[in-house]
Amino acid sequence: MENVISLVEDRLKNGQWKLTNRRKHILTVLLENRGKHLSVEEVHGLANQKAPYVGLATVYRTLELFLLNDVVQSMDFGDGRKRYELCDPGSGGQQHHHLICIRCGNVVEFSRDLLKGLEPELNMRYKFKVETLQLNVFGFCRKCRPEKGSHQGTV
Ligand SMILES: [Zn+2]
Ligand SMILES: [Zn+2]
Repeated sequence: MENVISLVEDRLKNGQWKLTNRRKHILTVLLENRGKHLSVEEVHGLANQKAPYVGLATVYRTLELFLLNDVVQSMDFGDGRKRYELCDPGSGGQQHHHLICIRCGNVVEFSRDLLKGLEPELNMRYKFKVETLQLNVFGFCRKCRPEKGSHQGTV
């Protein structure tokens, strides 16, 4: 964990930013909640389970600063709330993708390997050089998928 903190510290330093105590506090919250996709309000709530108190605006600004420096990635699972999660360290900022259940809100991450062919294909067909690729797939999870034979359609 210390390792990640000093990595982030270096990254911010490159952009002339400092990892202040409050920023470190918020980073620790993200580290302790790995694998979750947290809204600003959720990070705010978690951060304030421990001192020091951090205001909502500070949490928001810090998350945006982290986003700018590729410390976190952000996503929208279709509920109108921006969510944040730490980028996978050591992957060079590479991202994973999400399967989002439109009934229960369950989020499953899937590996970018599944889309390995997509980037070269986009490059070839559309002369488009992909910088970041993040895919959110909406549907029904294992528990919620409609029974066979019933036609509930997709949203
Ligand atoms: Zn579900
Ligand atoms: Zn994720």
